[in-house]
Amino acid sequence: MNEFAATQLLRPDVATMEPYTPILPFEVLSEQLGYAPEEIVKLDANENPYGPSPRVREALATMAYPHIYPDPESRHLRRALVDYTGMPIDYLLVGHGADELIDLVMRLFIEPGDVVLNCPPTFGMYPFDAAVNGARVLSIPRRADFSLDVEGIVVALADRPHAKLLFVTSPNNPDGGLLSDDDLRRLLELPLVVVLDEAYVEFAGLEHSRIHWVPEHNNLIVLRTFSKWAGLAGLRLGYGAFPPAIIQHLWKIKQPYNVSVAAQVAGLASLADVDYLRRNVARIIAERGRLMAALSGVSYLHPYPSHANFILCQVVGRDALTLKQALAARGILIRYYNSPGLADHVRFSVGTPEQTERLVVELMRVES
Ligand code: PMP
Repeated sequence: MNEFAATQLLRPDVATMEPYTPILPFEVLSEQLGYAPEEIVKLDANENPYGPSPRVREALATMAYPHIYPDPESRHLRRALVDYTGMPIDYLLVGHGADELIDLVMRLFIEPGDVVLNCPPTFGMYPFDAAVNGARVLSIPRRADFSLDVEGIVVALADRPHAKLLFVTSPNNPDGGLLSDDDLRRLLELPLVVVLDEAYVEFAGLEHSRIHWVPEHNNLIVLRTFSKWAGLAGLRLGYGAFPPAIIQHLWKIKQPYNVSVAAQVAGLASLADVDYLRRNVARIIAERGRLMAALSGVSYLHPYPSHANFILCQVVGRDALTLKQALAARGILIRYYNSPGLADHVRFSVGTPEQTERLVVELMRVES
């Protein structure tokens, strides 16, 4: 054993960093809860309950080149994305989930000590990746209705010369609210790169996407994913639209084989079956309406209107963690929050009608 302690060489900021707590995989949950995987109602990670297109399973089963490294430029997939997004191919870069692209953008811009602006409550990976990249996070909390505090952002920026990136999400996770055109316009006037995360935009309607703003704004990046609308969360596939002056540098720093052959094949098969996937999106949107009505009828829940595939609720007059645990004991998994601005909140992903029914039965049982 070498006497020397390798831990002395660790980055001190990483050594003291809090670990990110990801959700548990199905098999582990199944063992912990004593339910078979197919009995578990998983409403904690905004996955698509209908899964991928059948064409994806077929394409994966007959994949020609799993033994050959993938195309580093995902050419076929990016060509298909031109039709889906309306973006010229030169604006598009594909990643191992939108998560990888959040990290990649930070790696391009952040030097230790630079500032990333975050607007909580929002997706937890922005501050996580900021910490991994040695950035300082400046939080400008959203208002009580979860809208962005644009004034607050402008003021916060005034004396922050090292502020480089601002992350905004529309629809926002966890509340499902949309960013207005006016707010985005004002943000784009700031001396910052604005990263607009549209992971859930298909559930709001693609007419709400601002991806077509990218060619007109040299400081706008729009991120998207196949995880939600296309049901490919397990295969890890995301993409972004980037201004040319930014994308040319992303190409230089990206891992060459970041998107697997399987993910590229699955993405292509999904884009060849958009009508099928849109029908599932429509079912999820319809179910969101039914879930909203059901949650509104539960005396201890205050749901917020949502444009995404989940509904956030404040839990009133009882403990939100106990609620989450009571549901988990019955095989229903939901997301629980107790962070600043989100004390005693839970988030329900929109599932199938059968899953909503099981959820409602259990919510009523907890009520009585
Ligand atoms: N952005 C937001 C707002 C999300 O909620 C998620 C997933 N939970 C992602 C990005 C990550 O997407 P992907 O699965 O493509 O990494």
